[in-house]
Amino acid sequence: STESKPIDTSHQSPVVSRPPELTPSGDRINATFVTLARNNDIWEIAKSIRQVEDRFNRNHHYDWVFLNDQPFDDTFKKITTSLVSGKTHYGLIPKDHWSYPEWIDQNKAKKVREDMKERKIIYGDSESYRHMCRYESGFFFRHELMLNYEYYWRVEPSIQLFCDISFDPFRYMKENNKKYSFVLSLYEYFETIPTLWDSVQKFASANPQHIAEDNSMGFLSDDGGKTYNKCHFWSNFEVGSLEWLRSDAYIDYFTSLDKDGGFFYERWGDAPVHSIAAGLLLKKEEIHFFNEIAYYHVPFTHCPTGEQTRLDLKCHCNPSDNFDWKGYSCTSRYFQINNIPKPEGYEKEE
Ligand code: GDP
Ligand code: MN
Repeated sequence: STESKPIDTSHQSPVVSRPPELTPSGDRINATFVTLARNNDIWEIAKSIRQVEDRFNRNHHYDWVFLNDQPFDDTFKKITTSLVSGKTHYGLIPKDHWSYPEWIDQNKAKKVREDMKERKIIYGDSESYRHMCRYESGFFFRHELMLNYEYYWRVEPSIQLFCDISFDPFRYMKENNKKYSFVLSLYEYFETIPTLWDSVQKFASANPQHIAEDNSMGFLSDDGGKTYNKCHFWSNFEVGSLEWLRSDAYIDYFTSLDKDGGFFYERWGDAPVHSIAAGLLLKKEEIHFFNEIAYYHVPFTHCPTGEQTRLDLKCHCNPSDNFDWKGYSCTSRYFQINNIPKPEGYEKEE
């Protein structure tokens, strides 16, 4: 953030400590943090930013893009600009990225919301949540503020980071040719996506050219693709390639799903939508699991496996909170299909 006004320091202690800059700014790659938020998310996103800065970005000064379907107010901009050590950008989402496409029957969508409210399906009655999921699935990477970047790191309000991040995840992605990454995975609520897999199958048979040969079908399906096992990467944390999301393969995939209407007639989440895309359009080895990035978003924790890793990175998470090897996590499956060993020490933490 830039501050041009002179600051009155007469009341401050003479020793103003600034952390040493470990990575010269010239070492950054072309990447940004990105947050979708409402003005009233300010204090929850402030907590998230403070932790991202303390554990990582104070040494790098990556930019941060904030997106909103309403204009950001001055408080939101002032607080976030003061916290982010890189440049901040604030974008308004164009109306046609956050509204009903013409092929959607809005009465039918309304009836679905009423029905899901009665069935107590999480966010089932929410119209804005559906616009949010559709936006994160198909549009954030095409916002004009995002177009100049190659990689993104999604940050939500109220998250926690429990360990130092002693390397640059953006650089890791670029140098190792990774396109998508995760720290937590789990099973989706079936009621929110009853026809998602049908829609995916329709897309896949019409677009075989977009399906990667060495894909992660084994992560998504237990019967060779006939049915979806509901495993998905939790998309409230993502470091990924914007160029992949802007590729013909991903855009054709999103466009095809969007035409089927499940963002409104069901309650498709961006997590299964991104995950299925990563699982089928990418080669297995293009998806990465960041054991070292310790993360919490209510109600799950990823605390790195391996005591030495946790000590080296000054972690403050309780290893017994780690979700990775518990029954409702899909992360073991990721290790199996990729034929890679689980991080050292996982047996002790099962
Ligand atoms: P959950 O994590 O699935 O419980 O959903 P969240 O409430 O955290 O929403 C996901 C992300 O979208 C967060 O970054 C929110 O700040 C953001 N978000 C959710 N709804 C809206 C909305 O109506 N407008 C805007 N601008 N952001 C939203
Ligand atoms: Mn959230």
